[in-house]
Amino acid sequence: MKSRRHFVRDLGIGAGAVSLAPLAGAAAAARVVIVGGGFAGASCARALREFAPAIQVTLVEPKKTYTACPFSNLVIAGQRGLAQQEFDYRGVVRSGVEVLHRSAVDIDPVGRRVRLDDGAELAYDRLVVAPGIEIRWGALEGYDEAAAERMPHAWQAGAQTLLLRRQLEAMPDGGLAVIAAPAAPYRCPPGPYERASLIAAYLKRAKPRSKLLILDAKDSFSKKPLFMQGWKQLYGDLIEWQGASDGAAPAAVDAGGMRLLTDFDEFRPDVANVIPPQRAGFIARRADLSDASGWCPIVARSFESTRQPGIHVIGDAAIANAMPKSAFAANAQGKLCAVQVARLLAGEEPVDTTLLNTCYSYVDTDYAISVAGVYRPQGDSWRSLDGAGGTSPLDADADARRREADYAADWFDTITGQVFG
Ligand code: FAD
Repeated sequence: MKSRRHFVRDLGIGAGAVSLAPLAGAAAAARVVIVGGGFAGASCARALREFAPAIQVTLVEPKKTYTACPFSNLVIAGQRGLAQQEFDYRGVVRSGVEVLHRSAVDIDPVGRRVRLDDGAELAYDRLVVAPGIEIRWGALEGYDEAAAERMPHAWQAGAQTLLLRRQLEAMPDGGLAVIAAPAAPYRCPPGPYERASLIAAYLKRAKPRSKLLILDAKDSFSKKPLFMQGWKQLYGDLIEWQGASDGAAPAAVDAGGMRLLTDFDEFRPDVANVIPPQRAGFIARRADLSDASGWCPIVARSFESTRQPGIHVIGDAAIANAMPKSAFAANAQGKLCAVQVARLLAGEEPVDTTLLNTCYSYVDTDYAISVAGVYRPQGDSWRSLDGAGGTSPLDADADARRREADYAADWFDTITGQVFG
């Protein structure tokens, strides 16, 4: 087993800030329940076992197979099989975590209990909630569950990913594909644009007379100059992006008629990928962890809910301010939350530290770009550290873009190995 100092170094958190006094006493007999076994929850569960092995850790996750969203755009582009996105929980169980394949349906924050869909109740000393996102059905007029079967979102990987892939395969050469991109905040800020890039790569190869139009609810997006440069260079007129100021914000869909409407226009695409507004997963609302925004406010340093003491929220569901909703961030938050939960259980103060994030995006299979950031709790929020991080340079050559594509692949193998391996 790694030393605790080694473990803390592996967090990717700022050096020097973490006190490594042994955890004992109350922490030893404590029980932590974690709801949601994605990048955030599974990382937190494993980190707790490593950091404070005496704590009993139970992970509640309904699915036996986790399907990762990162790299799922490659599946949509026909460059990768969905099986390469799938992971089971054997590694998590081996690490000493009790895994219950059930859904949490209710939380009693006063009695400190979680109710599962089979009626069982789990008592906890501290609870970590990491349910990811749910789609806000109806927030985009006409976009409900039935509409998603014709106009897939593919924003939760699995059947939706394959549906979008099949629709692109069936699209005629010379057809029109549209991506409707939402306003922030949403899961994976650069994700719609990586998807556009990889769909364009597929169309260029297989259906070169086709067109891909992005209708965006905003004017700016993550790595915009880099994406725009790559699109021009690789795909010419095949991709067109229109933003909110162009009047392109998606206003409604009519799935039966395969129509996508903005305030000014109506489009009749052959394939419509509608990425709708989102919010924290259902249990967050059920337990009154989310606010009017649909996301969960937290005390930045400890990830403890500002609405329900004793409950921590991590990953996409949490309001982590400047930190993007990414798997990288979810993993880092999960590990740091484990440290803070163990310290709180031992009667110690949460530590102050920094967290990192890097998001790679493919513009083509051998051409990737990235954005990196360093974040620190300041007052109530996670703030970006000025002068730290940045994006890939605009003037990089093909070798540099290829190297970033290799780094992206290494990153995916490393993080999934760490969380599920
Ligand atoms: P999730 O991974 O969604 O996990 C939540 C888990 O909670 C799920 O397994 C769910 O079954 C479970 N759950 C929900 N409700 C309950 C309940 N009531 N009881 C029990 N369990 C429950 N990020 C990157 O860093 N890099 C990338 O390249 C990248 N690419 C992306 C590409 C796409 C197309 C998309 C859509 C996302 C991408 N992301 C990427 C973002 C990344 O997938 C998410 O940020 C990440 O999955 C968030 O992790 P999470 O644990 O918060 O949520």
